[in-house]
Amino acid sequence: MNKYKILVVEDDTSVKNLMATTLKSHDYQYLIARNGAEALLEASSHNPDIMLLDLGLPDMDGIEIIKNIRSWSNMPIIVVSARNEDTDKIEALDAGADDYLTKPFSVEELLARIRTTQRRMEIMMVDSEQTSSKFTNGDLVIDYAAGCVYLRGEELHLTPIEYKLLCLLSKNVGKVLTHTYITEHIWGSSWENDVASLRVFMATLRKKIEISKESPQYIQTHIGVGYRMLKVE
Ligand code: CA
Repeated sequence: MNKYKILVVEDDTSVKNLMATTLKSHDYQYLIARNGAEALLEASSHNPDIMLLDLGLPDMDGIEIIKNIRSWSNMPIIVVSARNEDTDKIEALDAGADDYLTKPFSVEELLARIRTTQRRMEIMMVDSEQTSSKFTNGDLVIDYAAGCVYLRGEELHLTPIEYKLLCLLSKNVGKVLTHTYITEHIWGSSWENDVASLRVFMATLRKKIEISKESPQYIQTHIGVGYRMLKVE
């Protein structure tokens, strides 16, 4: 049995069944909630590891559930919703969701998002156990204590903003961070100018760490939403 317990919050029977079958066949433990009230009850009483959350629920909006959960738990929340506007994604991510998958989705995509979330949780656990001051991802090494970054063993020369950006992304590896989240952490505000500056700094940072501009290995762009650092195998 997989050690991860997943709470599926979904009112649509066919989607719920698809998720349940998928999780079961991959040895995940799972719980089902058909509305917001059940979701909050299951989340608080069974302490699942990951929540898959539909936004359009009969009794409350999924955004309210994210806000409620975030007031007491860091449990990863992957939104699985038919709402596909950037503003919907941004609202959910800003409320505290970790990832966003749009319906209709493929089973492979769902499983990949769950695995990404698991890896992020494992990294966070290792970090807190060792209070490690070093982050390693593929050929990229960040020595937080020394404030140095190495790529394939060579030290990289980053500007202070590029370094802050890279640290923020690395500390949230696997998680989509919205433009607002990033600019608030880097500049303390989220003016439109900051988002424009963010694009510029992100471009210079990527030039330094990515081999190919067309298929970036480390930093993924979510157009209109934000960025995510990928865990490199
Ligand atoms: Ca629904």
